[in-house]
Amino acid sequence: MYILLMGPPGAGKGTQAEKLIEEYKIPHVSTGDMFRAAVKKGTELGKEAKKYMDAGTLVPDSVTIGIVRESLANPECAKGFILDGFPRTEDQAVALQKILVDLGIKLNGVVNIVVPDQELVSRVTGRRICKACGATYHVEYNPSKVEAMCDKCGGALYQRDDDKEETVKKRLEVYHSQTAPLIEYYKEQGVYKEINGLQAIDKVYRDVKSSLEGGN
Ligand code: ADP
Ligand code: ADP
Ligand code: ZN
Repeated sequence: MYILLMGPPGAGKGTQAEKLIEEYKIPHVSTGDMFRAAVKKGTELGKEAKKYMDAGTLVPDSVTIGIVRESLANPECAKGFILDGFPRTEDQAVALQKILVDLGIKLNGVVNIVVPDQELVSRVTGRRICKACGATYHVEYNPSKVEAMCDKCGGALYQRDDDKEETVKKRLEVYHSQTAPLIEYYKEQGVYKEINGLQAIDKVYRDVKSSLEGGN
């Protein structure tokens, strides 16, 4: 399964990816996760990326495309992957197309999780993530059983630096101007599916799966 997950910040891409990797046993390739790992390690890439992430803007294509090319060429990705958070610009989409042709890979589905902006702000500001395993929670919509502690591994939950209201608003603006236009690009390619992301997490997952397997 070669899956591309699309949608605005807070739509539920990471949440659905967690379920898909468990079911299909394929790697999760998330540019946001890769940048956060680099920030944590304090690498040059991390220092560069952090400036943009904190501002709610996009890390330049010149940096981002190379990272994805390298990840997808990894043998682990040969049998499938879930690409999440990439592409976000037209140049990234064109670059991805070339990367996939070079690797001889055809996407099974481009799944767009649709959620209106007014819902996204509260999703993103209430998001909490496990420091140890990366599992995603929401203080209200998907709380952990014990406050601030991960159900899966007992790790501590934290809030991302960029999940503040002002930054989220900027990220939504960037999404609408630079990323949303890609929907038309993928619609023309025929593997595009749209999912109502306002439903409960499990229902969204059922729809994602049937769109991938049943082709509706
Ligand atoms: P993305 O990866 O698209 O930015 P996440 O998967 O991190 O989004 O989800 C954003 C926040 O919204 C998280 O706190 C998550 O728990 C919550 N969330 C995800 N899906 C739903 C849903 N269907 N209904 C309500 N809250 C959701
Ligand atoms: P969300 O799904 O909540 O928007 P991500 O974790 O996907 O968050 O991304 C966090 C930040 O990382 C983005 O705001 C951006 O600064 C950077 N980033 C992630 N993916 C890309 C990308 N494909 N191109 C440029 N910047 C990216
Ligand atoms: Zn955990």
